[in-house]
Amino acid sequence: MRMYTVDASVCDRSPACPARRVCPKGAIVPRPGGPYPGYNGYEVDESRCAGCGICARVCPTGAVTPA
Ligand code: SF4
Repeated sequence: MRMYTVDASVCDRSPACPARRVCPKGAIVPRPGGPYPGYNGYEVDESRCAGCGICARVCPTGAVTPA
């Protein structure tokens, strides 16, 4: 199964991350720390990810890509 990953150098770290909102598995999770969720970016929890690719299609900066 194809997995996805978040490129921290491209992610805009928005607290309203659309990729996180659309993921049907809740697999895009904020990295810990900071004053709000997403301050330190996001990562894909591979134990939850189904590999559907919805996240990659909605990410406005193209930060989510196949691993
Ligand atoms: S590929 Fe699908 S299940 Fe995996 S993080 Fe993206 S939206 Fe969620």
